Amino acid sequence: MDVGVATALVGALCGPALARGVYQLSVDAGTPARVTCRRCGEHLPRGWFRFFLWTGRCGYCRTLLGPRVWLVAIVAAIATFAVGHRLGNDPALLAFTVFALGCVLLTFVDIAVRRLPDQLTAPLAALGLAGLGTAGYLARDLTPVLRGLIGAALAGGLFLALAWARPDGEGMGLGDAKLAGVLGLYLGWLGWSDLGLGVLAGTSAATLFALYMLGTGRMTRRSAITYGPFLIMGAVLAVLVG
Ligand SMILES: [Zn+2]
Repeated sequence: MDVGVATALVGALCGPALARGVYQLSVDAGTPARVTCRRCGEHLPRGWFRFFLWTGRCGYCRTLLGPRVWLVAIVAAIATFAVGHRLGNDPALLAFTVFALGCVLLTFVDIAVRRLPDQLTAPLAALGLAGLGTAGYLARDLTPVLRGLIGAALAGGLFLALAWARPDGEGMGLGDAKLAGVLGLYLGWLGWSDLGLGVLAGTSAATLFALYMLGTGRMTRRSAITYGPFLIMGAVLAVLVG
């Protein structure tokens, strides 16, 4: 059986927990994660297993909180299918699966509040270094890990330069550069072509989207675009076809 089917199932089952995470983490910078309903103030159910039973609504007033659970579950299933299909029984599969779930969380949070919190990006970077490093050690081959580090430096550096080129806060921000660095680590681990394809597909999709929005007048030249989801979509594409 394709390992992707198994990981997709894991991804779908994590959908409710991810959707609740998105609601709790969709806050402005410097604001603590939400723990109550935004309408009635009812505390969210406590206990980690309650995350997996999340319905997307307040248990008291039934207000819709955060993204739709089914939508998050479908996106998570696609992302985890991509890594399972690509990596098969590789020891790095675990790190990649957790990374895919983290990217789903980042995508929805970025769409909701237009920021990529460090509290999500940093653990994914640490997980990548530890998980991929261990996989490299087990396989007695550290070449992919080195390639991943170079990929992180290249992709992160490119987006850092783009962020600096527009220091007024428009366009790409530091959060995008950090995400690009982490994506570069994982894509670089897979291979140079994956790294190139992922970065190219992500930036092209973002550019096309911006041109479309400008062309239809739904965005002005001064608007900032949310790069995170495009970078992640490019990475998923690279993992699938690379
Ligand atoms: Zn409520």
